[in-house]
Amino acid sequence: MSAVEHKPSKRILVVEDEHHIAEGLRLNLQLQGYEVLIAETGTAGLSAWKQWEPDLIVLDIMLPGIDGISVLKSIRLEDERLPVLILSAKNSAEDRVKGLVLGVDDYLSKPFNLDEFLLRVERLLKRNSWVKEESKPEVERLTDSYVFGDNKIEFGKSLAVCKGEQVTLTEQEIRLLRLFIANRGRALSRGEILELAWGFSKSLTTRTVDNFVVRFRKYFEDDPKNPVYFKSRRSVGYVFDH
Ligand code: CA
Repeated sequence: MSAVEHKPSKRILVVEDEHHIAEGLRLNLQLQGYEVLIAETGTAGLSAWKQWEPDLIVLDIMLPGIDGISVLKSIRLEDERLPVLILSAKNSAEDRVKGLVLGVDDYLSKPFNLDEFLLRVERLLKRNSWVKEESKPEVERLTDSYVFGDNKIEFGKSLAVCKGEQVTLTEQEIRLLRLFIANRGRALSRGEILELAWGFSKSLTTRTVDNFVVRFRKYFEDDPKNPVYFKSRRSVGYVFDH
């Protein structure tokens, strides 16, 4: 394809468990001059995203273990801009919407045309480098906030105003709050919370999750013993209700 320009320095992470598809993509992307890394599970994909710092991720939805949607959620907690091209055998409208809400940049259904795939990759990388040149306006960053009850979380400033008092939030608290808010109304298991908010690299116990929730209740609940927002779900985990 002569229309595709060579971008030798760009790194593309392919998260795909179907070996022949992953290898086919690797070969073709390498022919275009990209550096390619394959991850065959969601967990390996998250690990590679952190350690290898790709410029673009090609992400299959159906993966063993944590699926592509969960991988994407986890990435978007920390990086709202990294281009993600979803691959899926499923072509339901529901999947498409779910993906777009989560910040998928593009979507291809299997089986797809290889030239089309390469063009989309090229387009996403181009668009992202254009976006990067314009820095995010200060105002937009600072208005990144969430209000519930008498509480306001200001993500950009790493603080919360809880019942009139200001609390400084740690990076991990912010990540966990984003996760709860993004999944409000849905019960999350402790294991799921650990996986999505902490990733894979640290050996933590589910007790860690409990400790954070205790802290959130102290910050945000009028009566921490009878929580209204950070509720326990017996034998499941926690749900943020708002
Ligand atoms: Ca798959």
